[in-house]
Amino acid sequence: MFGRAPKKSDNKRYYEILGVSKDSSQDELKRAYRKAAIKNHPDKGGDPEKFKELAQAYEVLSDPEKREIYDQYGEDALKEGMGGGGGGHDPFDIFQSFFGGGSPFGGGSSRGGRRQKRGEDVIHPLKVSLEDLYSGTSKKLSLSRNVICSKCKGKGSKSGASMRCPGCQGSGIKVSIRQLGPGMIQQMQHPCNQCKGTGETISDKDRCPQCKGEKVVQEKKVLEVHVEKGMQNSQKITFPGEADESPDCITGDIVFVLQQKEHPKFKRKGDDLFLEHTLSLTEALCGFQFVLTHLDGRQLLIKSNPGEVIKPDQFKAINDEGMPMYQRPFMRGKLYIHFTVEFPDSLSVEHCKSLEAVLPSRAAAQLTDMELDECEETTLHDVNIEDEMRRKQQAAQEAYEEDDESLGGAQRVQCAQQ
Ligand SMILES: [Zn+2]
Ligand SMILES: [Zn+2]
Repeated sequence: MFGRAPKKSDNKRYYEILGVSKDSSQDELKRAYRKAAIKNHPDKGGDPEKFKELAQAYEVLSDPEKREIYDQYGEDALKEGMGGGGGGHDPFDIFQSFFGGGSPFGGGSSRGGRRQKRGEDVIHPLKVSLEDLYSGTSKKLSLSRNVICSKCKGKGSKSGASMRCPGCQGSGIKVSIRQLGPGMIQQMQHPCNQCKGTGETISDKDRCPQCKGEKVVQEKKVLEVHVEKGMQNSQKITFPGEADESPDCITGDIVFVLQQKEHPKFKRKGDDLFLEHTLSLTEALCGFQFVLTHLDGRQLLIKSNPGEVIKPDQFKAINDEGMPMYQRPFMRGKLYIHFTVEFPDSLSVEHCKSLEAVLPSRAAAQLTDMELDECEETTLHDVNIEDEMRRKQQAAQEAYEEDDESLGGAQRVQCAQQ
């Protein structure tokens, strides 16, 4: 607290720490802080004191109000105004908030025991039906998790005290020395087995009877997960701070990730629903109606307009019968219906005559004999086009591989032998 007492008039030091001029812009401050903070971060072997100073300087200068006070009256004015400690925020928090929570080093940075670690989040997949997402539901789930022992408040001991581990003198690390040969020794470090690397132990007599010195106990907890109308597949529902508790650790979250089960009838795309429906040729030509049971059990009557013909592969849409929108459940997407038309495999000559009586007449029938004489006869065969295309592609692939073999085959054999 009484380390360095800056003069009352000292209002340059923060600028010097960041290495910027007194009239530098916010952008310049940011750049300077970013560069210096990364360089001096203790996780990267930087000086913790320097790192703290940088955070302090940046915290003040990045706040226009504080900067003005600092410029006019210096460091001490800020300390007085804020009840001592000059802001006194955790430099790691300032660093974290600057980088938006993510580590600028890529990957988790270990802070050792220097300050509170954050416990891990626990992720659970949660299977839901499309009906659940349509109407909303809540599911009760029973989970077991570690909680801080209530008897010892996470100390592990009756007295609240813990002893320095005699095995490692509190360092959590043991060094063993191995003689490899005359005059040759090898030093090896490993976590202390007596205290599991924590550096402290609890005497047998003092051990908490409820948690046996483990500091945490298992607890069953029922969580009620509210699946809201319109939620999406893979949407997350978070219960902050409900994961395993552990002493000196900020408890992580329990996160449920929705997994929508396939629906036999409906497909969902965003807020819209898609339905496949097959019509007979007669229905497609002369009209149809059918009853569709919606996801909430309502019966919808779906019918064609009088005189309307539905063509194969045609889509129709019903407004406001799609999915409810998340957090705006009174708004809904569309229900699209994709029609397939089933044609008869064959028709008798009589049927054709009846059909020709009502349908537009055949253009080909109007060819004259003279025109027909000029043409060559052909035969139409049945094909399964997908099969044929697949077979052709396979043949092409084989031809290509044979080619490849003759060119690079020897080399490939060599590789395989290595
Ligand atoms: Zn130990
Ligand atoms: Zn206990």
